[in-house]
Amino acid sequence: MDKLGEYIKKRDFEKTPEPGDNKRNDTRGPIFVIQKHSASNLHYDFRLEMNGVLKSWAIPKGPSLNPSEKRLAIETEDHPLGYANFEGTIPEKEYGGGTVLVWDKGVFKNLKDKMSLEESYKKGQIEVWLEGEKLEGGYVLVKTGREDHWLLIKMKDDKADRRRNPVSTEPKSVISGKTIKELKKN
Ligand code: MN
Repeated sequence: MDKLGEYIKKRDFEKTPEPGDNKRNDTRGPIFVIQKHSASNLHYDFRLEMNGVLKSWAIPKGPSLNPSEKRLAIETEDHPLGYANFEGTIPEKEYGGGTVLVWDKGVFKNLKDKMSLEESYKKGQIEVWLEGEKLEGGYVLVKTGREDHWLLIKMKDDKADRRRNPVSTEPKSVISGKTIKELKKN
């Protein structure tokens, strides 16, 4: 089955500037991206490469560096790998209408050495080490009892930081250096 079927079905590629290509252009390893998405509700889309696509979760409050804060992460449809470099504006009437900014990006490692990422996903507990520009260190994604609802939690390691809050203090794109407002003008 085409894993990107739902992604394609939801979009009209004549109208949206979003990519359809499924190529990763980072050779270092599996990638992750966090896209700030100023849609009807502002949220942060967290995407992790798994089996040739980007597994995706929408996080209303964005990630936290504080291990005692659990952030709701709602699973959404798989996205193509090429989406990791997408920023721009989706027309208002289209699916996901609003502005998308690449808030953080990098590579990651699966922290479970005896279990593949896909198995972890199926079991509902993913543990990864992120190497991004804003986020680093261990993060856990754990499935709750409610369908599609997960929690993103910072692990207790030397990258945890209760004082730093990049969601509010580092709003710019790691690709263009622009803010949502500046991207909207284009
Ligand atoms: Mn979104």
